Amino acid sequence: MCITHKEVADRIIQCLTEKQAQLRSSIVLAGSVNYHLRIKLLKGPNYQGLITVRFFALKHTDEVFLDFTGKTILGMSINNNQVENIDWDGNFLKLKGVKQGRNEILVHYENKYDNDGNGLHSFIDEDKKQYIYTNLAVIYCRRVFPCFDQPDLKGSFQLTAISPKDWIVLSNEIPSEKLDVSTHFNQKETIYSLEFIKQIIEDNSSYDLREFPESKPLASYLFGIMAGPYAEVKCKQTYKNIPMSLFTRESIMPHLLRISDFLFEVTNKSMEVYERIFGYDFPFNKYDQIYVPEFNWGAMENAGIVTFNDLYVYREEVDSVKLTKLANTTSHELSHHWFGNLVTMKWWNDVWLNESFADFISHYCLSQFQTTTRPMSDIWVAFNARKAWGYRTDEQVTTHPIAGSVPDTNTAENVFDGITYAKGAATLRQLFSLVSVENFSKAMKEYFHKFEWRSATLSDLINTVDEQFQQSGSSFSLSSWQKTWICKAGLNKCIPLFDPSSRDVNSKLVIKQTYTLEMHPTLRNHKMKIAFFDENAKIVHQQDILLQDQPETVITYDGSKGNYKALLLNYQDETFIKIAFDSHSIQFFKENLNKVDCELSRTLIWQAFYNMVRDGDLSSEEYIELFINHINLEKSDGLISNQLQFLETAFLSFTPGKYSKILGNKIFDFLWSMIEGSDDSQVNKKLALIGYLPSFAKSEEKVRKLLEWYNRKALTKETMGIKTQWQIVQAVYRIKDISKEEKEELFQTQSQKDKSDQVPLYEQYCKSLLASPEEKEKLWQSYLDPNNPLSTRLLEYSLMGFKSHSTTELTQKYQLLWLQNLSYVFKTCKRELFKAYVLYLQPSQETLDEEFNNSLLKIKSEITEDVLHKVLLECQDNNSRKQKAISTFLANTKLTV
Ligand SMILES: [Zn+2]
Repeated sequence: MCITHKEVADRIIQCLTEKQAQLRSSIVLAGSVNYHLRIKLLKGPNYQGLITVRFFALKHTDEVFLDFTGKTILGMSINNNQVENIDWDGNFLKLKGVKQGRNEILVHYENKYDNDGNGLHSFIDEDKKQYIYTNLAVIYCRRVFPCFDQPDLKGSFQLTAISPKDWIVLSNEIPSEKLDVSTHFNQKETIYSLEFIKQIIEDNSSYDLREFPESKPLASYLFGIMAGPYAEVKCKQTYKNIPMSLFTRESIMPHLLRISDFLFEVTNKSMEVYERIFGYDFPFNKYDQIYVPEFNWGAMENAGIVTFNDLYVYREEVDSVKLTKLANTTSHELSHHWFGNLVTMKWWNDVWLNESFADFISHYCLSQFQTTTRPMSDIWVAFNARKAWGYRTDEQVTTHPIAGSVPDTNTAENVFDGITYAKGAATLRQLFSLVSVENFSKAMKEYFHKFEWRSATLSDLINTVDEQFQQSGSSFSLSSWQKTWICKAGLNKCIPLFDPSSRDVNSKLVIKQTYTLEMHPTLRNHKMKIAFFDENAKIVHQQDILLQDQPETVITYDGSKGNYKALLLNYQDETFIKIAFDSHSIQFFKENLNKVDCELSRTLIWQAFYNMVRDGDLSSEEYIELFINHINLEKSDGLISNQLQFLETAFLSFTPGKYSKILGNKIFDFLWSMIEGSDDSQVNKKLALIGYLPSFAKSEEKVRKLLEWYNRKALTKETMGIKTQWQIVQAVYRIKDISKEEKEELFQTQSQKDKSDQVPLYEQYCKSLLASPEEKEKLWQSYLDPNNPLSTRLLEYSLMGFKSHSTTELTQKYQLLWLQNLSYVFKTCKRELFKAYVLYLQPSQETLDEEFNNSLLKIKSEITEDVLHKVLLECQDNNSRKQKAISTFLANTKLTV
């Protein structure tokens, strides 16, 4: 058979629309799709594939297409007829002459490994070993092979992988033992009829072949391949003997081994909890977790072959808050094997069914057991920290309903945000508290059995849960809950009108409810608990209340039970609402915060104060003061760690630049003295403090102090992890008054100490930070280049360095250029590159000049893409919030500089 050839040189990347997907689903029979992928994984930049796609069409048509954005199609046949004129625009591969009934498409293609963390990513470690992995969500399966890249057209996958002898290959199923390439091909010659095997046959001693059995029906985004000299650690005792291993690069395996027992413990215990809650056994044959480099997300739930960002393979001891986050991600990904992998959303508008659910249920799951290998921090405090992301997103003008409309896959990539994860999860927690866990569990069992291996929609879930509620005699209305919580955007805020002097048994309390955005004026019912505190900050009275979906709710409470001094709304954090204090409580908590007994209550109070900074109602200076006054007496290490993160943001984002040195010095000295004053038993506390210390070193004096520590002349008792060492190098680079020579010498010293894949990252950071105006210009041009050879991760470090040290003149120049090139980068660059361009270069100055604002308005009126509108609106939104906070600071400051 001769080889036809089609290559796409300049391609406009197009997304898949919901309409296209619906059309395809109306022709291709759900459940009929089968893929057999034969893939030749070569060392170096290229790989080859030969794929057979089988499906049943409901009619004779020319309308069906496969998604494919690979490099070159070498040959193709439809139902054994070779296609001479391949109709492919680099996005959609049209199938002419699909017949009613069974069809078989064969495509032979050549491809380049990716370097942006999506598709089939290749990474070369510092030891020169090459590692390959897939990340196919949301629409990157089409980069790796031609497919129906939409979640409702599930297919079963068969894989035959040819790879270098020193590589292992993993996929969704357990493979056969390695097979001899030539014998195998002789037996199956007819299948491998194209050029595919030629070169391998000639050199078969260097390659292995593995056959993977047919997988369960999976959405295309859940297929996975990992290949390379990955190192493995097997779990010796697994839940129900389900095969379970961890994998990562050889160079970082020693670090993974330090926490492997903890990870296995969390995985096995979570599996047991999920089987119990869902009433459905773990649906896959094995469970591998692979920690991969240059990963874009935290983790991805490929069925039975979950990938994690290898930044989670901590190279130094970390505090319990970080370990708890990792435990939560571990449990989250596992839960997707029911919610997402077994039952999949029909289209991306229901991605919240996957993510909100996984985000809530993983926290609930972790609250059901204790770990013995490593301690975890309080799980509901961790849940609250995550909610902050939801609150922030829901207050932006670009917020959206939990279940919204997703017209195409470009939009789909944007909805993986604080609404889909954190708000959705908090909403489900509210649902859990409104109905019992037992009822919910029964509904889940029904849901999974009814929709197993298929796709479902929001109404499928709601109907199943509603039926269960009706049977249990519950009066709760799921449809009104769905209407206000799932289908309407926007955040509510509540504030009490509290009179502490009222001692009446029938005291009245008015609670006002508002919305934070005029454009989303929905008020909601909120079930919550409220707590009253006495003069010793002890809770002397608490009660359940239902906040009505009205501007005011009047509550009756018993005021005679003590000397009430303060009131906290939503004190067990059961609902998703922004809380504010009355004037008495605000003063009381400012003075007595550290005396409050319950950790979750203290967390909520801290969060309310931090929100005041973001809203411009409290200056960051006063917030820093509060931190310094109270955190020394704080008993919970987890709370200290979380609050350090908020302190860092308040300091870096909401403090005028000219005060950053004086306030930075103050915080630095305070944290330094806390580290010195902590005894050896307070490991978690010290690790948290050390982790944040370099962020506040804004003066040469403080950076020199860090250097003394680096050179073991100060804080000599404290060991310094590799990450902290690099943070110190970065802090040194940020100080203008330290000479270039001294900086470069330090960089050399540190590179000698580390020698890992982290060195090139920090090299990018330091290089672009020190760049001259001419070098900056060159760097800028490289950021606009769609063919920039840097991986996304390397590019991110370059962008961070670029932005962190610019003269005002340069900053202004690039602010404008950023705006002017936004649309160009969106249209020409890979999505991860565009995201990095937005995230790291977006102007966030204390004042943006008129020219910038005028350009922004002009560009906004010219562009048509929703994704770009969103970026510009958020840019405006963030800047106006920042400017309000800065004005509050300037109006109230006691500092002089
Ligand atoms: Zn998830």
